[in-house]
Amino acid sequence: MKSLYLKFVVITISIMIASGVISFLLSNAYYQIKLKPYNDEKNAQIALDIATFVNENPSIDLEAYLENIGHVGYHLYLVNSNGENQFFGSPFRDNTLSKSTIENVLNGEIFHGMLQFSEGTFVTGFFANELANTIGVPLTYNDQNYALFLRPDIELLFNEMRKLFAWMLLFAIILSIIMVVLSTKYLIKPITKLTKATKTLSQGNFNVALDIKRHDELGELSKSFSDMANKLEQTEDIRKEFISNVSHDIQSPLSNIKGYTNLLHDDTLSPVEKEKYISIINGEIKRLSTLTRQLLLLASLDRNEDVVKKEKFRLDTQLKELIKSYQWLISEKGIMLGYSLPETELTGDPSLLYAVWDNLLTNAIKYNSKNGNINITIEQKENTVSIRFEDTGIGLSETNIKRIFDRFYRVDISRTRTIEGTGLGLSIVASIVKLHHGEIKVESNENIGSTFTIELPLQ
Ligand code: ADP
Repeated sequence: MKSLYLKFVVITISIMIASGVISFLLSNAYYQIKLKPYNDEKNAQIALDIATFVNENPSIDLEAYLENIGHVGYHLYLVNSNGENQFFGSPFRDNTLSKSTIENVLNGEIFHGMLQFSEGTFVTGFFANELANTIGVPLTYNDQNYALFLRPDIELLFNEMRKLFAWMLLFAIILSIIMVVLSTKYLIKPITKLTKATKTLSQGNFNVALDIKRHDELGELSKSFSDMANKLEQTEDIRKEFISNVSHDIQSPLSNIKGYTNLLHDDTLSPVEKEKYISIINGEIKRLSTLTRQLLLLASLDRNEDVVKKEKFRLDTQLKELIKSYQWLISEKGIMLGYSLPETELTGDPSLLYAVWDNLLTNAIKYNSKNGNINITIEQKENTVSIRFEDTGIGLSETNIKRIFDRFYRVDISRTRTIEGTGLGLSIVASIVKLHHGEIKVESNENIGSTFTIELPLQ
């Protein structure tokens, strides 16, 4: 069996056949246990009623009377003590009946042939038109003893019903098979579509629009599948963009280094020019080293949470140390820096969090306006602490705010193009904050300034 469709059809039809056989066996058992004795008793009563009527009405024409009952729907057999016998109604298929049975009935016993008749365990005994499958009762007519054997003429009484049921059964079987074949196709169709879509996806084609609008589990599955395909496409796009950005950001300083080293071979260069070129080369090497350091950090942050080595430390002290190390740059740019750093103990990875403050402070310096301000504050709440970096710099537009945490994203305006940077700093900040189960918020107005607020759990 190859396809799921074929399997499903075969299994369902097998179930239908098996349940048909089982219900046939069960109804047989029901017939044998309940219906057979009831049928025997019912017919014995009818036979006794006939015998009583004949006994009480000796003037009737017995032959005509029994002939009449035969026409109404019974097979009858009448035999007297001399062995003279007569059949009424349509004939029995089998006329075998032991002599002793006839004698017993002539002697006054009732013969329960229907109850004793055994046709295996099957209900078909009900239909067996045989003399042995009758009820026998003694009958006296004009002082002559008779034995009357009788059974209903099933053919006459139930023929239409039998045909009706047979057709009904046939239609039910044919219709069920057609329905199973069609409904299985309907059930399996989304799976076939999903399988096809999976193959397409595995070949790198993410365009797998599945037109499955069902509201059951399969509909749910195909929706999740489409979502997964979209996410994979986004991840793939990000990966491609990332690789192209990395290659570009490594390639451009390398070609600058190559270009300026070639220029250094020129003997006619003045010492001032040489010094200038060497400082450019140094700048590019520094850029490359920052880039690789940041890439390595990002890669380790991406890997898992194990990179976070948490410990208790004084956040205010850490921030003060950071400010001290940038003091020279701040005063060089004429920036006024104010802070409010109350004593705060925090549980987190001190070196990773140092990288966060470092990035935020250098950004606040880099993207600040001349003689601008920076304000750093710590605000302790019940279970969290908020660290705010406010600057009066160039600010950000609404659209740029959404993208600044993307890897390699740099706002491309003339003013920032001249400022050194990799576009990786804020994505590192976002990853570290996420690993500390914290949150980062940005409020910014172009040409007015930006505020970066980080909220971290204290423990
Ligand atoms: P970069 O290395 O370029 O500073 P970041 O990831 O730290 O990379 O920042 C991404 C971009 O967000 C920057 O290029 C800059 O355009 C913008 N940005 C970051 N901080 C600020 C700020 N304080 N004020 C204005 N723009 C900022």
